[in-house]
Amino acid sequence: MANAFWCIVEDDRQGMPKKVMSEVIGEAARLAGGQVEAVWLTDKASDAGLKQLGEWGATRVWLLANAAYAPYRSEVWAGAVAELATKESPKAIFGAVTSRQREFVARLAARLGVGLAADCVAFAMEGDRLVATRPIYAGKLLSKVAWAKGPWVATLRPNVFRPAEAQPGKTAAVERPSLSAPAAIMKFVERREDVSTGLPELAEAETVISGGRGMKGPENYVILEDLARVIGAAVGASRAAVDAGWRPHRFQIGQTGRTISPKLYLGFGVSGAIQHLAGMRTSKVIVAVNKDPEAPIFKIADYGIVADLFEVVPALTAEFKKLLEK
Ligand SMILES: Cc1cc2nc3c(=O)[nH]c(=O)nc-3n(C[C@H](O)[C@H](O)[C@H](O)COP(=O)(O)OP(=O)(O)OC[C@H]3O[C@@H](n4cnc5c(N)ncnc54)[C@H](O)[C@@H]3O)c2cc1C
Repeated sequence: MANAFWCIVEDDRQGMPKKVMSEVIGEAARLAGGQVEAVWLTDKASDAGLKQLGEWGATRVWLLANAAYAPYRSEVWAGAVAELATKESPKAIFGAVTSRQREFVARLAARLGVGLAADCVAFAMEGDRLVATRPIYAGKLLSKVAWAKGPWVATLRPNVFRPAEAQPGKTAAVERPSLSAPAAIMKFVERREDVSTGLPELAEAETVISGGRGMKGPENYVILEDLARVIGAAVGASRAAVDAGWRPHRFQIGQTGRTISPKLYLGFGVSGAIQHLAGMRTSKVIVAVNKDPEAPIFKIADYGIVADLFEVVPALTAEFKKLLEK
């Protein structure tokens, strides 16, 4: 529908939208006054997933169900959504800041010949134009931007926007538009699944534990994982730890890694370089444990412990175990 705000669905590849979609849809609904539509590219649409999108507030789901949409290839997705957007003229197109959508939404904006506001942390309607707020200079400054022309294309940082409250029983109309057959430029060669840690995903987690160079070696991350299991946290790392080969790059927090905004961030042996802060400074509560009282991370920490992490982590794990098992 013209004037609708579109939300590109980020799913778990198994037919369910991810939690971040409740935030994207919730914010779109607040701005659009209800005209919120989801666009779902998938090879595994499920009734439960469609129901979930409706309950979060999508009034319509554009279901682009085709085996060619999985595995994800940005040029295939961008072609399909650009074609649909050209036909339907949405007012805005929102995505989430995830690995896939960061890339694909930029490509989509280029195809549509419009500007992209990436990594937004706030929006406001000023008259009839949308103004987006986004961090710049590694989060040191916030900039406000508006679009010269529509549709307004933006990506939203996870864990920043208020999630939509699910309204049980509310349903979305499902449209299956006919689009040109997807033409892939790249050939799919091989898929390798990441080995699951059994812990929450970094970008989705409400609590994140981060280990830096102070962890001293990859074998020591086991103490962070023990704590993470007790409190239900994800475990991330600084670039120094990733560059040393202690953790894969997908766990890196910061300017050249993942941007997170959990309710609670716990940093162990992380100095707090500006490039690390760029990826976590919007966390609601920041706790830092560092031997060095001058470590820059203490400047932004809500709680700081000057101590040896190898004493603090096991003590915290034991205390949380006692508290949470009560
Ligand atoms: C272009 C560019 C992009 C970058 N992108 C990123 C990025 O995305 N993410 C990122 O993290 N960095 C990034 N960096 C690197 C960044 O500048 C820092 O080098 C890096 O963040 C440092 O990691 P660290 O805090 O783990 O290590 P260090 O700075 O070496 O800090 C280790 C800390 O551990 C403490 N410590 C040591 N032993 C203990 C102990 N037993 N108990 C408690 N504390 C202890 C030390 O006091 C120290 O403060 C980037 C740099 C550049 C130039």
